[in-house]
Amino acid sequence: MGEKKDEDKWKNLRCVNCGVEAPSLYRRFSKEIIKLTPCECCGEAVDQYVEYDIVLIVIHLVLLYLPAYTHIVHNTRYKVYPRLAFLFILCMTFDRWYQRERSGLESILDLEYGFYECFFLSIFQMGLFLIFSLLVAHFSSFNKEQLILTANSVILGYFGSVATVVCIVYGVRDTLYYRILMLVFLYASQIQVHRALFPSRSFLLTSSLVIIGKSLSLFIPSLIQ
Ligand SMILES: [Zn+2]
Repeated sequence: MGEKKDEDKWKNLRCVNCGVEAPSLYRRFSKEIIKLTPCECCGEAVDQYVEYDIVLIVIHLVLLYLPAYTHIVHNTRYKVYPRLAFLFILCMTFDRWYQRERSGLESILDLEYGFYECFFLSIFQMGLFLIFSLLVAHFSSFNKEQLILTANSVILGYFGSVATVVCIVYGVRDTLYYRILMLVFLYASQIQVHRALFPSRSFLLTSSLVIIGKSLSLFIPSLIQ
């Protein structure tokens, strides 16, 4: 009695454990009592992350847990993605600009110009991968909601770029270990995002597409630079 379904306005909710669509994440019985909806396919709670603190969710994202990516991609409706995209582009710009600044003796004006150039190259880099992901995902059908979902998810996959700034601050940016680790992480986080987006695709297909797209988006701007 008094039971009612939440998230009726949300569409495409998915179980974070098995990836099948779910009608709701939880049911609210009163102001303080909620019950997580069990998944009809795997029997686990559809999304246990609704009870988790955001800090714990971020830790799970860093640890590349696929359920955490599924939670963010399908079961949340944050409106911060444009701001996140700007933040990640700034981090990518700073990283690119830092490498250039370290490699040559340039005047202050050259450095300023270089920063703007790096900024637009970073936008170009993210844009290339975004377009690649959208084309691969939706070449046969056009659905505005799905396009926005894919675009937001791809932006989420760039969150590792924040770590580049942290590593520059701590002076470990130039170590080989860091470079390899960051590159692997940026590829892996995008693979997890795409696995969460398209759970019916095989791991091999998803990984191959992400590796091709990411490699192209890194290589093409370097030709201009
Ligand atoms: Zn399930």
